[in-house]
Amino acid sequence: TVSETQAPLSDGIELVVDALVANGIDTVYGVVGIPVTDVARVAQARGMRYIGFRHEQSAGHAAAAAGFLGGRPGVCLTVSAPGFLNGLVATANATTNCFPMIQISGSSDRAVVDLQRGGYEELDQLATARPLVKAAFRVERVEDVGLGVARAVRTAMSGRPGGVYLDLPSTTLGAAIAADEAARSVITVVDPAPRQLVSLDALNRAVEVIESARRPLVVIGKGVAQARAEHVVTELVERTGMPFLPMSMAKGVLPDGHPQSVAAARSMAIAEADVVVLLGARLNWLLGHGRSPQWAEDARFVQVEVEPEELDSNRPIAAPLVGDLVSVVGQLATALRPGGIRIDQGWLDRLSEHAARNAAKMAARLAADVSPMNFSTALGAVRDVLAAHPGTILVNEGANALDFARDILPMTMPRRRLDCGTWGVMGVGLGYAVAAAVETGLPVLAIEGDSAFGFSGMEVETICRYGLPVTTVVLNNGGIYRGDDPSQAPPQPAPTALSPSARYDQLAEAFGGSGYHVETPTELTKALEAAYAEGRPAVVNCVIDPTAGTESGHIGGLNPQRAASAA
Ligand code: ADP
Ligand code: MG
Repeated sequence: TVSETQAPLSDGIELVVDALVANGIDTVYGVVGIPVTDVARVAQARGMRYIGFRHEQSAGHAAAAAGFLGGRPGVCLTVSAPGFLNGLVATANATTNCFPMIQISGSSDRAVVDLQRGGYEELDQLATARPLVKAAFRVERVEDVGLGVARAVRTAMSGRPGGVYLDLPSTTLGAAIAADEAARSVITVVDPAPRQLVSLDALNRAVEVIESARRPLVVIGKGVAQARAEHVVTELVERTGMPFLPMSMAKGVLPDGHPQSVAAARSMAIAEADVVVLLGARLNWLLGHGRSPQWAEDARFVQVEVEPEELDSNRPIAAPLVGDLVSVVGQLATALRPGGIRIDQGWLDRLSEHAARNAAKMAARLAADVSPMNFSTALGAVRDVLAAHPGTILVNEGANALDFARDILPMTMPRRRLDCGTWGVMGVGLGYAVAAAVETGLPVLAIEGDSAFGFSGMEVETICRYGLPVTTVVLNNGGIYRGDDPSQAPPQPAPTALSPSARYDQLAEAFGGSGYHVETPTELTKALEAAYAEGRPAVVNCVIDPTAGTESGHIGGLNPQRAASAA
């Protein structure tokens, strides 16, 4: 009828944008193409920010970082099959790190895909994604788009956060729906990450264990930073006087300079603690699986964790506290009596002596007058500039570039450090940097090994296109791990070799940013100060000694022990 043809129409593309907006999502990171280009256009027309990347993996990493920093799921938009797969690496990585994110991908016509008729970008994306993400959903009918987005938002944020895949076939995206029906179909998720407190029994059990401690240690993981639990955790630590150790992305939850930090006596604190209070950290490979000899065989563990299946995954947990960190640490801080723990003062003294000795050794390494620079002397210069700009968000990846920067660069505020995380993945760098700048408006400093930088280096163009205040320092030793691999078999370059005289600074210049080539700490300091003063995109090619660094950094022991001697 006439009235039906004149009724205002919506479609899957408009509806997915409306559903995101209704759930408080204001930014989409992606790479457009068939069939999702108009999703980005409509998002912009609706007042959302759309940040277009050069590779889907970087867009996905950006969405993951947005989720970690902001609490709402970051959203990544990808095209079918290959673009989807590129982005999926980031969604899987977000899931492993427990960051809330949603990958929305267009997909090809199911009628063709499912009969394997050789369609354009043919792939069963739902089945491919499912084993790698927290949950995967496909929306077949346009009237279910709102439901699909709501399920994705709640699943990404509730319980243990993670990556969610939302599959939107091109047929759903293009399908028409009456505008009033479309509006009614949008769901705004209420209380997507509900508070979860523990019972009195569980609380009393934990108090008993903690108050029996003589050598207690609080381990703070990135879950605390993500949960924005810094206030209750600070209260717990300061009211009880327990020493604490931050995991790398939890640096700054309490300032690294805090008198109770035992980061500079890490191994000793871990080995000698008799009671460990784990907050938003897993006993995975990064903590030696909680096993001896790193940890005392008979140490007793208290663990605050939102995911019940995590408990006892590596060693027995004497007092499990299953709930959300803000609520449960708040309960714990109130339940523990001041003076209720009798901490061995001799132990605290030995920890601080040990930390002071390590700090003195590090100070000497940072100040060493060596030419060319090495990781320590270059990062010594970075450290001084960073101290004058404490709001900066630091992104950090590489092998040695990660190990050295994590130890050398102190953090004073929460959620200011983004790095390789649970998988030890390379390639997060510039994606994380873009999201950090977009989500917070703060200056961003990316400290990258020259190898790590290569995985996302073309996103320098993205950074320049959006004029983001991101300074990337490439610690350039000309190789993976180092630039002087003695195993090379000419005429082939060594497997670890990269171009020895690469000028990464010129990449910034190619796209209208500022490039700096530096060979001394003084030049590096000047370049960083100039970059801060300009507040625009910059790449610093920081030449360091090709012999600086060790194979696989601090985790060389994870390489297989060769049975046959190398030929
Ligand atoms: P790190 O690498 O810093 O040790 P992990 O990623 O291993 O940190 O651990 C973070 C833990 O925090 C995960 O087990 C995750 O389930 C948990 N977590 C995340 N958010 C919350 C929250 N709001 N409340 C409780 N636990 C949380
Ligand atoms: Mg290198």
